Amino acid sequence: MSEFDLINQFFKATAVKRDDVILGIGDDCAILSPPPGKQLAVSTDTLISGVHFPQSTTAEDIGYKSLAVNLSDLAAMGAEPAWVSLAISLPQANDAWLKKFMCGFNELAKQYNLSLIGGDTTQGHLSVTINITGFIDSEKALKRSSAKVGDSIFVTGNIGDAAIGLKAVFNRLDTTGDFSEKNKHHCINRLNRPSPRVNAGRLLSDFSVAAIDVSDGLMADLNHICEASGVGALLSLQQIPLSDAALNYYNNKPDWQSVLSGGDDYELCFTCADNQYAEIQALMELNDIDITCIGKVIEDAGIKCLYGNQLITLNPSGYNHFK
Ligand code: ADP
Ligand code: MG
Repeated sequence: MSEFDLINQFFKATAVKRDDVILGIGDDCAILSPPPGKQLAVSTDTLISGVHFPQSTTAEDIGYKSLAVNLSDLAAMGAEPAWVSLAISLPQANDAWLKKFMCGFNELAKQYNLSLIGGDTTQGHLSVTINITGFIDSEKALKRSSAKVGDSIFVTGNIGDAAIGLKAVFNRLDTTGDFSEKNKHHCINRLNRPSPRVNAGRLLSDFSVAAIDVSDGLMADLNHICEASGVGALLSLQQIPLSDAALNYYNNKPDWQSVLSGGDDYELCFTCADNQYAEIQALMELNDIDITCIGKVIEDAGIKCLYGNQLITLNPSGYNHFK
């Protein structure tokens, strides 16, 4: 199949249609019509085989995850997803592979009414670069720099499952618990199919709070909020929300370093003032989103971790490509 047949069949024909896409795939540029009064939130993420996903990952999961991690960036700003472009480099034009890749990709694109408006298709090592655009009302973006001393720190969902999933994929599970196949599957699924917290981010955009998505590890990402806001954080390890699967894996004695620096969680971490909490909690509950308070914003720079009243020393670094 030629490059152009491939573009028509797998990208153009399957793209979600939106009225604000004046001209989609097929010309030199896409022409887009943003809603009057809205600002655009734009982000790019690359996923490279063997770096961002194990080489054994299925085409469907790669398609899903590539879009999920980009949607997670929009979620962290509180934006409404609208348009996406896809630059893909493939070792060969493999129809069956692309069909499955787009099946995973389109599962999320349809869920979020996200239109594929263009891209680039090249031959080379497998890598996927996505550029995503969303809408946001002016002054409503969830910036990393908005945390204030005295705020509480929250996360959505559970932390640490994907790090266990990664160990499972590489047969490096090391557990004293009776780790069931069901729990193992749960963790691998969290690694390959993260659920971007778009809804949570949009709900938070009505409050002026700081937020980030947890991609490189909770400590490293929370540290980005702290640095941008000129504050520090005091985390209470006992409050970090773990799934039943993670508790089973760690036999109720979590390896905090792994939980807090494992990455690939794609949950949101946000800070909010005490007088915002009740309203945020009520909204999240109404939308079936679990949030957990895990600590406080403090004046001293850096992140301190307490277990009870014992100070635990952990390495704050998360994943870093150039270490
Ligand atoms: P150009 O020669 O201008 O770079 P291409 O031949 O690369 O154009 O692409 C033709 C059309 O197909 C363009 O509209 C481009 O945006 C679209 N396209 C190419 N690859 C992809 C892809 N992976 N996903 C979505 N659209 C794509
Ligand atoms: Mg091109």
